[in-house]
Amino acid sequence: MKGNIITLSIIKPYAVKRGFIGPIIAIINEAGFKISAIKSVKLTIEQAEEFYIIHNSKPFYNDLVEFMSSGPIVVMILTKENAIEDFRELIGSTDPAEAKEGTIRKKYADSLQKNAIHGSDSDENAIIESDFFFAKKDRF
Ligand code: GDP
Repeated sequence: MKGNIITLSIIKPYAVKRGFIGPIIAIINEAGFKISAIKSVKLTIEQAEEFYIIHNSKPFYNDLVEFMSSGPIVVMILTKENAIEDFRELIGSTDPAEAKEGTIRKKYADSLQKNAIHGSDSDENAIIESDFFFAKKDRF
């Protein structure tokens, strides 16, 4: 397989709570991503702080950490050629008001913060984020 091959995705708490796990995974499958690892977890505040450490100087950091630890999430390692860019395209803009028609965020996000889903923004971060959630033996 050429190009980058993995991205880390998270179906965020509010999307899980509203019952969107199934429809979101269906879109991911239809777009040709293979699910190489998947689990449901509830982050502690400390884990959410660590996951989003890159944003710790941003004004929305505390709200983001609180939100991401507010309920269960579904975490997946997704595999596909050109995974990072293709998945960012599939999920749409961070702010759902700006997301294109047909994207996951356009369909299932409620707001800039409750934007339904996460996708890694670089190869380096995909590896860091995948290692954060999954042991090697849990990837297929
Ligand atoms: P992403 O890569 O598209 O998820 O966007 P970022 O890495 O810039 O931001 C991480 C997450 O922080 C986003 O997915 C949102 O959930 C949240 N976020 C980003 N910007 C804002 C903001 O201005 N306000 C709030 N409340 N949340 C934000």
